[in-house]
Amino acid sequence: ESLINRIAAGEIIHRPASALKELLENCLDAGSTSIQVTVKDGGMKLLQIQDNGCGIRKEDLPLLAERFTTSKLTTFSDLSKLTTYGFRGEALASISHVAHLTVITKTKSSNCAWKAAYVDGGLVPSKAGYTPDPKPCAGNNGTTITIEDMFYNTPTRLSALRSSSEEYVRILDVMTKYAVHNSKVSFSCKKAGSLSPELSTPSCSDASQAIRQLYGHSIAKELLHVTASSAWSADAYFTNANYQGKKIALLLFINHRLVESHRIKRSIESIYSGILPKGSSPFVYLSINLDPRSVDVNVHPTKREVHFLNEEAIIERISDAIQQRLATQSQ
Ligand code: ADP
Ligand code: MG
Repeated sequence: ESLINRIAAGEIIHRPASALKELLENCLDAGSTSIQVTVKDGGMKLLQIQDNGCGIRKEDLPLLAERFTTSKLTTFSDLSKLTTYGFRGEALASISHVAHLTVITKTKSSNCAWKAAYVDGGLVPSKAGYTPDPKPCAGNNGTTITIEDMFYNTPTRLSALRSSSEEYVRILDVMTKYAVHNSKVSFSCKKAGSLSPELSTPSCSDASQAIRQLYGHSIAKELLHVTASSAWSADAYFTNANYQGKKIALLLFINHRLVESHRIKRSIESIYSGILPKGSSPFVYLSINLDPRSVDVNVHPTKREVHFLNEEAIIERISDAIQQRLATQSQ
């Protein structure tokens, strides 16, 4: 049974960066304004994420890593009104099947922090003579999640990973995108033992300021902005026709989740294909908010490709708005 759980978990948690995405979403769901990540060996040896969010109550700790345990769904009908990132209660459970998971957390109303370690969906059993988890400890309000030795028991997953520097690049990429989208939250990411973080962004006033901080002035100075709305709304920052980028960057968020959509990618590529010099590609940050009932949230969590109602019409409206803005810029 534990082998099956491990395989299933590996379907959700592919690599350190996919674990980090889940953990970041949890921090944001918890209302954090500051999120700090520490990494060792591309997250394979250590991936630690500390937030200053609402914390987890001591009484919720024993079941925290059990599958389908979520504080975010009270009734089934809630699924249709989903506003938080998480709803499956699968992330921590999955992680506990493929890595060593430790949680230290403190809510405002608790007078100390609590620490608990997990394995295979439950608390690590306590040895005779030792205090069982959760154990009281010192700590600030918020939650620190520590993942160690990812895939220690799943050699096929471990061997599918790239070098630790490549895994680290993916970690930074996920963090950077979430930092743009959550511009008011401060983020930092550093290697364990290093003093200066590779990524560090303060609370910014808006996405364009966050893009400047994270992607640099050369992109930020060429940015155009449009918003569009109907029953839905969209907010986009994208580079103009003067920008000479090399690698296409599409930061796509739908209802605040980082997702992929081939349709949107293709329509953006076709907007720019006629206006950019050969070899250049745009930087585009696009955030779309839809009625949660129109987004297919039931796709398997590993599938980042997203689908929604009236997809074609909505994409066309957004493309038109971007195209028009590009046209006025070049006059
Ligand atoms: P989901 O996010 O789908 O609910 P997870 O496995 O990601 O499932 O998390 C399980 C539960 O653990 C969450 O519902 C939440 O109650 C709690 N939790 C996880 N991370 C945090 C955090 N950083 N701050 C507060 N609560 C958290
Ligand atoms: Mg979650």
